[in-house]
Amino acid sequence: MRGELDEVKRPLLIAHVSADLQLLCQTCLTEMTFQIDHDFTLCVVPDEEQAEQITEYDAVIADDEELSVLPLFEDELILSLPVVAHHAPGECAVAESLLREDDEIEASEKPNPFSVLASLKKSSK
Ligand SMILES: [Zn+2]
Repeated sequence: MRGELDEVKRPLLIAHVSADLQLLCQTCLTEMTFQIDHDFTLCVVPDEEQAEQITEYDAVIADDEELSVLPLFEDELILSLPVVAHHAPGECAVAESLLREDDEIEASEKPNPFSVLASLKKSSK
């Protein structure tokens, strides 16, 4: 985590958060490790009014001298969590069997290219 000033001399907090979290895969309901590797930039402003003017960054209001950093990290961690946790494709047993079923359905629904050719032949005669 470091502090910087941007082009218009606004104080920025540039930080990186990384964590391994144990989440429950919502497809197969077994535990999975979710890796968070998240960079974020916050602009430190003294009040709400200035916070509303910050569009390039997320604003954080520091109305007293000290800014507690830990809640900021917690917020960013929560933001980078998936809404619903799932295994990565290929790592989840349940998802894989579902995918295979989907493939089979798709294949049987696709028209056979040769049947299209056959109907073209018929209509040209
Ligand atoms: Zn799973």
